Amino acid sequence: MYFKKNKLFIEKVEGLKIVKKFGTPTYCYSRSKLKNNIKNFQKNFRSINPLICFSVKSNSNLEILKQIKRSGIGADVVSKGEMLQALKAGIPPKKIVFSGVGKKSEELKFAIEKKILLINAESESEIFEIERLAKLKKTNVNIGIRLNPNIDAKTLKKISTGKHEDKFGLTEKAFLNILKNFKKSNFVKVKCLSVHIGSQITDCKPYEKMINVLDRIIKKSNHLYDYVDLGGGMGIQYEKKTKLFNYKRYNSIITKFLKKHKVKIIFEPGRSIIANSAVLFSQIIYIKNTSKKKFIILDAAMNDLMRPALYGSFHNILPLIKSNKKNKKIHDFVGPVCETTDKFLSVKEFSNLKEKEYVAISDVGAYGMSLSSNYNLRPKASEIMIENKSSKVILKRQKLNNIV
Ligand SMILES: *Cc1c(COP(=O)(O)O)cnc(C)c1O
Repeated sequence: MYFKKNKLFIEKVEGLKIVKKFGTPTYCYSRSKLKNNIKNFQKNFRSINPLICFSVKSNSNLEILKQIKRSGIGADVVSKGEMLQALKAGIPPKKIVFSGVGKKSEELKFAIEKKILLINAESESEIFEIERLAKLKKTNVNIGIRLNPNIDAKTLKKISTGKHEDKFGLTEKAFLNILKNFKKSNFVKVKCLSVHIGSQITDCKPYEKMINVLDRIIKKSNHLYDYVDLGGGMGIQYEKKTKLFNYKRYNSIITKFLKKHKVKIIFEPGRSIIANSAVLFSQIIYIKNTSKKKFIILDAAMNDLMRPALYGSFHNILPLIKSNKKNKKIHDFVGPVCETTDKFLSVKEFSNLKEKEYVAISDVGAYGMSLSSNYNLRPKASEIMIENKSSKVILKRQKLNNIV
């Protein structure tokens, strides 16, 4: 995404042409950005040759998953729906891992039938259920056990998952107990130690601490693991002031770890692969001036992009046509939904805007469309893929008569 003569472009297509052709609100992805992100992720960890499983909950669009498949990486899924979507995209079962604290019996059964690589279990009850199902099917099932390493990921509180107060994974003590109990099971094979401490992590230190905990647990477990699943969570630069995640450092920490433990590393990145490959185009419905502020009322709302309302997260907003004049007044970019939290951004000044003009909300590829809803009975946005000079619909705008 870049400006040429004050006009916003995605690859070689002008933003204004996209909104005129496809309407708004519309999620718009760049295929080359997505491909580059995957390539860079692979390059950053080339020396450790990990299995990369894209976190489907960050974006479950079929066309995106087909690109994931073409790029040779796998999938991390958290429901039967996501598993079906990953399989539909052609991702091989042996590259699929299944995570989540509350997998229902039917979902586990499906995963066992499909012979996916690993079910990452998060409680003893879940492992008993997997064992019961495996026994019924007279088969054995490869599982990972998710450890809660009690580490503060130093990210937004609402997307932290690796502290004891969070619902995820098992404490060290419970982990070791369960491992002992299932060691001799004929039906459940513990192949993997897994963790995932949170999301939008920009500092390497929490990962370093996490690796130290893993090192200790492996030594205590007296067990041979085939895999160590390190989860995802690597942060991106939503704001210029955010420092870039130090992949080199993380890679060297893992390299050191692998000298002690002969395992295959699994990653489950979502955000770092897809977040910055998309914008959300939106039209300005009205501009309401008050003595203190300008409310820029958009046709996109919290039902389309929930992150600011849900986590208080930051997304930059850009005009499709930059004006040379700046308007020095507080601008609140809000949606039409009847909630005070239906607000995307507040800035002190902005390029001059008029009603009916358009803006682009940045870095919305992860947890954007996948978190959208029909709140206020609003139809879901469409999704567009840009590739060089071409643009195509990869998800049609929902029709009102499908929800009314
Ligand atoms: C959400 C999630 C991920 C992906 O996290 P990102 O921050 O998007 O990389 C990976 N693993 C598990 C278990 C998750 O719940």
